[in-house]
Amino acid sequence: MYEIKNSKEVELTDRVRFRCIRCAECCRNVEGAVIVEVKDAYYLAKHLGVTVAEFYNKYTRMFLLEDTGFPIFALETVGKDNACIFLSKKRCSVQELKPRTCKMYPFWIYPDDNGGFQYNFSTERRHHPKGSIVRVKDWMRDNLSEEDKEYLTEDTRALTEIAPLFNILHKRLDLREAVLSLENGGKKNGK
Ligand code: SF4
Repeated sequence: MYEIKNSKEVELTDRVRFRCIRCAECCRNVEGAVIVEVKDAYYLAKHLGVTVAEFYNKYTRMFLLEDTGFPIFALETVGKDNACIFLSKKRCSVQELKPRTCKMYPFWIYPDDNGGFQYNFSTERRHHPKGSIVRVKDWMRDNLSEEDKEYLTEDTRALTEIAPLFNILHKRLDLREAVLSLENGGKKNGK
């Protein structure tokens, strides 16, 4: 799974300094980085007036997790700087419905083993840790809905159960090769 470089673990009670200068750099060079969860795909497809299948075909690219070969989807990138397909003149064109990972940035989370979450803060841009003080708990309250939390917990649980099966399938059926050959057939995601 994608992990943000230069990040540090934080607690909900922590306070960090954060400054956004609207440079849109976090939306560039993001090939394979902006993960699209099923929930994101559903809302974005509705917003864009396309079916979920059309959304996946047009706006995402499939990647296989290195350890298991499990397929995941990330937003498509365009141009020499691998900018997110939804970046338009330094602005996000789907601001209200951008994927959960974007809403939470510069924080990111994943479920821990105790039914809670581990929280991380990205310091990958130099200006980020130089702004006003942000309480992690407040950021989560404003940018992580209960629906997001529920979804993430269930999604991770399902992935933990299903992903190892993909390993077996890949070994038995050479599924990895089949998927990759689909990708290399000129179009992505089996289009
Ligand atoms: S969806 Fe919007 S915020 Fe997220 S990477 Fe794309 S342009 Fe940036």
